[in-house]
Amino acid sequence: MTAGETQRDAARHVDVDVLPAAGVEVHGAYKAFGALTVLDGVDLTVAPGTVTVILGPSGSGKSTLLRAINHLEPLDRGYVSIDGDPIGVRRVGDRLKERPEREILVQRRRIGFVFQDFNLFPHLTAVENVAAAPVATGAATRTRALGLARDLLARVGLADKADVHPRRLSGGQQQRVAIARALALRPSVILCDEPTSALDPELVDDVLEVIEDLASTGTTLIVVTHEIGFAREVADQVVFLDGGVVVEQGPPSQVLDHPVHPRTREFVGRVL
Ligand code: ADP
Ligand code: MG
Repeated sequence: MTAGETQRDAARHVDVDVLPAAGVEVHGAYKAFGALTVLDGVDLTVAPGTVTVILGPSGSGKSTLLRAINHLEPLDRGYVSIDGDPIGVRRVGDRLKERPEREILVQRRRIGFVFQDFNLFPHLTAVENVAAAPVATGAATRTRALGLARDLLARVGLADKADVHPRRLSGGQQQRVAIARALALRPSVILCDEPTSALDPELVDDVLEVIEDLASTGTTLIVVTHEIGFAREVADQVVFLDGGVVVEQGPPSQVLDHPVHPRTREFVGRVL
């Protein structure tokens, strides 16, 4: 091994453990599907390197809000910015104008997304799933991307499953591969939409531990989950969304243990 290779290897290990962390701001997010208003003026501030847990009943707009953050769901009014940079739109005078698709794609690489149902490529092995985006975007050569992917799989406890296809992995293992994949482009923010709700109960903790590990290294995380224990231990702020409105937000000790709003009280009472 040459000195150059040793240095590159050292850099690679830094890559895996520390991600850049960005702040997220949601400004007056409004979205309707036909006559149904799904987000009705959501404002939210997420400081860099913090964990925000979003709670709320089914249909309250949680997934739509996450999808709006990476511009999978363009807003009707309002906008989302990451470190002050509006996502998917640009200010022109006092109006917002949609950015060209290629700019949106570049911006989206700053945002990792972990879905409820994993969404792995079934025909690729675990390591190929994790390496796919860096190779496709030209962020890394195939050799380097595969090396980084193996390191990321080791980080989520799956070093020995790198060459296995998703169908031979448990749901919890598939979700950990999906988390490694979300990390591969070194995102500044990671969004998780009910990452454990498709899992058998005994597999939930392994996935939550991986997310907790990310949180402890200072990654900015926004997690939709009903796992109250996780919220209590890991969240810096908990946001309760109902009917497309932020009903209550604050530290977990306030929102979970001393909710002020009757709707929060009723919801927390049900899921605890
Ligand atoms: P949650 O994740 O909190 O369960 P969602 O954000 O998925 O809620 O959905 C909020 C509401 O918006 C639901 O009533 C849902 O049926 C509706 N909805 C979501 N996406 C669409 C869509 N693409 N077209 C029409 N209605 C939608
Ligand atoms: Mg949802």
